[in-house]
Amino acid sequence: MRILIVEDETKTGNYLRQGLQEAGFNVDLARSGPDGLHLALTEDHDLLILDVMLPGIDGWQVLKTLRDARRGMPVLFLTARDQVEDRVRGLEAGADDYLIKPFAFAELLARVRTLLRRGRTPETAPTLLKVADLELDLLSRRASRAGRRIDLTAREFALLELFLRRPGEVLPRSLIASQVWDMNFDSDTNVIEVAVRRLRAKMDDPFTRRLIRTVRGMGYVLEEAEAKEEEAAGPGDAPSCIS
Ligand code: CA
Repeated sequence: MRILIVEDETKTGNYLRQGLQEAGFNVDLARSGPDGLHLALTEDHDLLILDVMLPGIDGWQVLKTLRDARRGMPVLFLTARDQVEDRVRGLEAGADDYLIKPFAFAELLARVRTLLRRGRTPETAPTLLKVADLELDLLSRRASRAGRRIDLTAREFALLELFLRRPGEVLPRSLIASQVWDMNFDSDTNVIEVAVRRLRAKMDDPFTRRLIRTVRGMGYVLEEAEAKEEEAAGPGDAPSCIS
C-alpha cells in the first residue's frame, strides 16, 4: 500500500512519514500543493493525506483537480481549522474523511486503515456524456439538448450513446448494427437508416444546429462542429421494418 502525504510543515510531514513507514506503508511526501498534485497525477497511490493550507495550490484545489482528472483514491484531509464550513467544504470537494490538527498518530492510523479497507471512491467511468449542448446521463437514462429533455426509447438511447462515445468518428452501419442491435448487418434492411432518422427527428430536427451527419456510402458521424446539411433522402430511406 502506497500513501502520498502532502504537508508543508516539515515536522508534521516527517513525523507522518516515519510513523506510516513503521506501520508498513510505502510513503511519498510532497511539501507543496504543486508537488503533491504532480505526484498524485503521475504516480499511483492508494491513499492521499492532504493538508489544507499549502503553499502554491491549497488542499481544496489539489483535491478538485484530482477529482476532475478522475483520480479516485481516498483522501484524508488534515485541517488546523476546526470550522464546520471547512469540513463541509472538504467533504463536498470529494474528501473521504478529515482530521483536525493536532491529532494523535494512532487516530490517523485508524482512519487510514478504515479508508484503505473501504477502497477507492467509485469513479473513472463517466456517467455523463456530452457533445456540444447534447447531454446523455447514463445513470438516470435521460437525454437532453440545450437543457430540454428528449424522450428516447431504449434503442434510441443506446444508439445515441454509441454516437456520444465516439464523437467525430464515422460509424459504419455495420458497426451500429452490431453494437445497438446485436445483429449482423443485412444490407437489405434499412433498420439503421430509419432508426437514425427517428433519432434525429428528436435530437436534431428541432434545433438549428445539427449534430449527426450522414457520410454517404459509409455511415454516420456525430460532429462537434456544425454539421453540413448534405444529406438528401437516400434510397431506402422510407420507414419500414423497425424493431
Ligand atoms: Ca499547512
